[in-house]
Amino acid sequence: MSEPQSDHTPPLRLFNSLTRQLEDFVPVHEGEARVYTCGPTVYNYPHIGNMRAYVFADVLGRTLSFKGYKLSHVINITDVGHLTDDADAGEDKLEKQASREAKSIWDIARHYTEAYWADIRALNIREPMQWSIATDYVPQMIAFAERIAAAHCYELDSGLYFDVSTVADYGRLARAATEEGEGRIEQVDGKRHPADFAIWRKTPPGEKRQMEWDSPWGRGAPGWHLECSVMSGALLGFPFDIHTGGIDHREIHHPNEIAQNQAFVEAERGCGCADLALDVPAHSGAKLWMHNNFLVERSGKMSKSSGEFLRLQLLIDKGYHPLAYRLMCLQAHYRSELEFSWEGLGAALVRLKRMVMAVAAHQAVVLGESLARSPKAAWSAKFAPLLDRFDASISDDLNTPVALTVLEEVVALKRVDPNEKLAAIAAMDAVLGLNLLTVDRQDLRIRPKSATITEAEIEAILTRRKEARAARDFATSDALRDELAAKGVEVMDGDAVLGWEWKLGE
Ligand code: AMP
Ligand code: ZN
Repeated sequence: MSEPQSDHTPPLRLFNSLTRQLEDFVPVHEGEARVYTCGPTVYNYPHIGNMRAYVFADVLGRTLSFKGYKLSHVINITDVGHLTDDADAGEDKLEKQASREAKSIWDIARHYTEAYWADIRALNIREPMQWSIATDYVPQMIAFAERIAAAHCYELDSGLYFDVSTVADYGRLARAATEEGEGRIEQVDGKRHPADFAIWRKTPPGEKRQMEWDSPWGRGAPGWHLECSVMSGALLGFPFDIHTGGIDHREIHHPNEIAQNQAFVEAERGCGCADLALDVPAHSGAKLWMHNNFLVERSGKMSKSSGEFLRLQLLIDKGYHPLAYRLMCLQAHYRSELEFSWEGLGAALVRLKRMVMAVAAHQAVVLGESLARSPKAAWSAKFAPLLDRFDASISDDLNTPVALTVLEEVVALKRVDPNEKLAAIAAMDAVLGLNLLTVDRQDLRIRPKSATITEAEIEAILTRRKEARAARDFATSDALRDELAAKGVEVMDGDAVLGWEWKLGE
């Protein structure tokens, strides 16, 4: 019954923040996609807003794989150099946290890196080809800075600074000249231009930092922006394809990376690129710069400085499966702001549960059969158009909200070959990463850590209640429902897909 799928696969179009336009993805190296993602500064736990940035980068990577590119993905771990202000003011975030917790900076970095990786796993974010740790690259950072220092930098008592007037079109990514960008940058004594930034921060005389290295400009530590330029160039080679980060990075961090990359490429090639436009791919480091918008929360709990902030672990402790949060992210386009609410998370959980349960019903039928199948494989006339629509939506600047609705259409299909249906779901889920074929329905129940009643107890009461209802003994059925309610268990019955379900309140 199967017929060949049409050869037509839509081109992948992605929004380039540099040009503020959708562009066809044309890889630098044929058949490959090289992606660098700005990773966390590991001085504290990530909040769920930070994790939105990695869900986005993960969907991008999975989409590139789905489209047939060989993916090389790097995510860095910033364990030195990120100051409390994104421009050059304030203290090193890690130094500050280390003294607050009375721990070594290395212990701080290790602890929060592990916590970040735990969130990465919980959200089913694929491991990148490489986690690059900033402190492993200090010699390369010094070499990079030496390469550009003469033509682009000047030295002050506090460090080596990059002179942004030495590169063409500085701040184009941020639209700094026309928008509010520069107004936010704090002044440092002696800087030639407010936007100039530190490449190397000297340790002040008489002080000692926990993390410091010798350099031609004295003992000190690298600037945060330098780290990403060096690691991305070293691991992926300039120019590479895509650089990602949260939208805040569009204003300072990425314009500064771009300025350094321009200077470096000029030094390497002697091309005099100060005369050339910034969006010449070879000079910006990456061809495409992509940014996810923010996850926001009305009460301001998304800011780490607010004390109590929203961590993924908090969601898990309240009984929500972390993949419900992943689905919540996918329900919005990555370039739209997304507002977090517990109701929204609950709705995402129910949506996930419906899909998982519908899939589980089929799984019983085809248990043991291999689902390994390329998305480009021949699909029957029933599935080929759906796969095409899925491809079209995800190729349209990662339109996950639409892709999800196509997936749900497949999940809802009746009277089709269950094996092929599951294969189609698997192909789509390889992009969306919801683990629909492996997640256990039981794990999707809301069950806060603080709950005392066991699942076995709940199930036992529910069994008695079902028997009572079967015998049309509604008085007993209601009494058992009240007994559960008194123990914090809410029973939701009568749903065609979800059937008899319960959730535990706090
Ligand atoms: P940081 O650890 O502060 O360097 O941030 C890690 C990543 O999270 C960066 O890509 C930020 O741009 C991004 N980010 C920060 N806050 C949010 C938020 N509320 N929503 C989405 N992304 C964010
Ligand atoms: Zn970065």
